[in-house]
Amino acid sequence: MPPDPGADRLVIRNVEFLGGMAEKHGWRPDSTLPEVAFAGRSNVGKSSLLNVLVRRKSFARVSRTPGRTREINFFRINNSFLMVDLPGYGYARISKERKAEWRPMIESYLRRTSQLRGIVLLLDIRREPSEDDREMLDFLAELEVPTIVALTKADKLSKAGARQRVAEVSRLLTLEPDQVIQFSAHSGEGRLELLEAITDLVQAVPEVDSE
Ligand code: GDP
Repeated sequence: MPPDPGADRLVIRNVEFLGGMAEKHGWRPDSTLPEVAFAGRSNVGKSSLLNVLVRRKSFARVSRTPGRTREINFFRINNSFLMVDLPGYGYARISKERKAEWRPMIESYLRRTSQLRGIVLLLDIRREPSEDDREMLDFLAELEVPTIVALTKADKLSKAGARQRVAEVSRLLTLEPDQVIQFSAHSGEGRLELLEAITDLVQAVPEVDSE
């Protein structure tokens, strides 16, 4: 088969860790490139998904560094856009005080980043969206940030079961079915589809407010 002329845009050639934001209004990279952020509750499989997505050992090292898990971490991809890893939210073991520290940081990042082109929200394919997930979705809808939902750990269901969950979650959250992508870090299923959706977000021409 001839090579797909559009496939090259999905190749991740270069990943550079730029640094992390540790507090509200704290350091962020001096960059005007488009940004796509990744959010989800702790343990949803975000590190695993990002590692599979970019296939870089350096990436895994950063996400495992103690302290980094509570920061907003910025990665430059192919010198063309930033992937932004938001801290996992809603973990029962995190005290209210800790939550009070980083929740405003996430919200402020989302509100203030005018070059934010979209969010990938991760949900475990087997679980109902939690209160925190719904709050995040409502917040994103309020900000009018384009949202893609990645249903993680799809390998834990049968193929038919996974397809059914995509339909159910789309209905439940009133998303278009093509906004909901099933993903497995174990099998790599959904990797290309997700990369494609991310590239579309990055390349979409942002709407200009005409007011
Ligand atoms: P994070 O806290 O959201 O970064 O989650 P991790 O990526 O650390 O994953 C949390 C747990 O889920 C780990 O035990 C992973 O091995 C497991 N996990 C992550 N992705 C998958 C997946 O695609 N399939 C299965 N079966 N388990 C997964």
